[in-house]
Amino acid sequence: MGTLRQVSSLVFAALSGVVLPAHAFAQAKPRDLSRWESLARDLFKELIEINTTESVGSTAKAAHAMASRLKAAGFPDSDVVVLENTPRKGNLIVRLHGRSTPKKPILLLSHLDVVEAKAEDWTLPPFQFIEKDDTFFGRGVADDKDDGAINLALLMRLRAEGFVPDRDIVVALTTDEEGGPDNGVEWILKNRPELFNVEYVLNEGGGGRIREGRKLSHDVQASEKKVQNFQLEVTNPGGHSSVPVKDNAITHLSGALVKIGTFDFPVHLNDVTRTYFQRSAPITGGTMGPAMAAIAVNPNDVSAAAILSGDPRYNSQLRTTCVATMLEGGHARNALPQRARATVNCRILPDESPVDVQRTLEQVIGDPKVAVTPIGEARNSPPSPLTPDLMGQIERITSQMWAGLPVIPTMSTGATDGVYLRNAGIPTYGVAGQFYGDTGAHGMNERIPVQSFYDALEFMYRLVKSLTRAGVS
Ligand SMILES: [Zn+2]
Repeated sequence: MGTLRQVSSLVFAALSGVVLPAHAFAQAKPRDLSRWESLARDLFKELIEINTTESVGSTAKAAHAMASRLKAAGFPDSDVVVLENTPRKGNLIVRLHGRSTPKKPILLLSHLDVVEAKAEDWTLPPFQFIEKDDTFFGRGVADDKDDGAINLALLMRLRAEGFVPDRDIVVALTTDEEGGPDNGVEWILKNRPELFNVEYVLNEGGGGRIREGRKLSHDVQASEKKVQNFQLEVTNPGGHSSVPVKDNAITHLSGALVKIGTFDFPVHLNDVTRTYFQRSAPITGGTMGPAMAAIAVNPNDVSAAAILSGDPRYNSQLRTTCVATMLEGGHARNALPQRARATVNCRILPDESPVDVQRTLEQVIGDPKVAVTPIGEARNSPPSPLTPDLMGQIERITSQMWAGLPVIPTMSTGATDGVYLRNAGIPTYGVAGQFYGDTGAHGMNERIPVQSFYDALEFMYRLVKSLTRAGVS
């Protein structure tokens, strides 16, 4: 925080909802930056200061702004494409051509849209790029405009250095990853599939694990759980509430929800989660470390599973999970309810089927009065193979920059646009070299450490160059 006067003006601003302009905050003068660091910072600033929220923003504006930057940097018009799938919604795709080989291109993906941010809730103006106290602030600095700025800057650098990759390198900044109605990746796969005809994709979702400021591991997201919502519904003839009967819609539904709430799906590891626990064991203290080592060896180790299930983060890696998230029922205070409904949100392991999960839920509920129906259809998202080439290069550069740090594959419980790509058979990896700690992504005062941004830039530059250097595998 700044001087007392600044603190008091900040408090005043926060209390009165007045958003003070960026110059009200003592912005740090960026330290001496290399040519490419300052380019990345510049692109970052420009991206953050273009509002790309669903409500009032425009990802099309951001896509065009970055397209102008690329053309100004010398990329031919034919290699810089902006696709507007609906008004205000835009996707930028740029290509650095490689040697003409049969090798398919690789794709560096990030999204332009950001979740909403109410200025009155923030301490700093969310749509102004602020550098203060060795920290970058602004909506999207962690999710996901940092990746966009980094991918564009490294591509411009490779081109300026005359680097000719052994295959094309494609960088895409797309729209509506955050749940908007016009997902850019889905649209491109459907309408311009040739642009995403790639061998694999490097996407958001990975990152560094830090505890108390200490780097623990460099995590690579290689798998995502799939999302399936189910509706639970009970109907009943109803009647007057003054003459109640035991057969009550809300009672039946509540009984079902309590059973689901206490039920745990069986432990089921896959290559990614087994490796995750194996490699996380040595860096995880307490009782969790040994339990991880045990479960990786024997997934049927009940006591190890019980210990790990005590931590929601590890529990969600062990098994499919289902939880009640929404509830409605009844139509009048003095009437017996004729209908009661609930939504149960399931995060299903990649190799488990939603049909089996539905059957299990019905068995657990064990009440024919409760109808279980899927809401929409979960997209399949097969785990991406941990190929020695890719993992080998990630490990090599990780140890160059952060000696001794283990690289650990992870399975996300949340979803990224990787679900569309994996569903289309395109392996996708969350990797970024970002050691951010707590960022407040999707929340207030989104922030990242300045140095971690520049380290991630260096990491991705080295990784992409080594993955596409001629003669490497
Ligand atoms: Zn994101």
